[in-house]
Amino acid sequence: MEFVDRLLTCADCGGEFIFTAGEQLFFFDKQFKNDPKRCKPCKSKRAGAAMRPGSGPAAAGISRTETRTTCSECGIETTVPFKPTQGRPVLCRACFQARRPAAAVTGDASPSNLVGMGSESAAVDMMPIARAS
Ligand SMILES: [Zn+2]
Ligand SMILES: [Zn+2]
Repeated sequence: MEFVDRLLTCADCGGEFIFTAGEQLFFFDKQFKNDPKRCKPCKSKRAGAAMRPGSGPAAAGISRTETRTTCSECGIETTVPFKPTQGRPVLCRACFQARRPAAAVTGDASPSNLVGMGSESAAVDMMPIARAS
């Protein structure tokens, strides 16, 4: 089998590169079915990128934002997975969870609840109080 140099197009940079007879012989020898897709510079660039640490899902997890801050409720130092807004209270996990149920209860005592009960007198009685305060 005779091999002659062939001109191939690089899939990465679109440039032409020579697939030499020697390389074709090597490919034939190794029983590689496909022609090389990339020129040598692009191939080595790819290999370098794959070897470089800091890429991949593990690195993405580390780069998550954790901001050190002080709990505005109990004053302990804590970390939050977001950037706290200036002037807004930041709660540690314990305080946040202690607060949540209370907030849910006040949120549920809404007019929609009274309407659902069908208690007209309760709704009427509540209204002036709400307005006064
Ligand atoms: Zn290339
Ligand atoms: Zn706290």
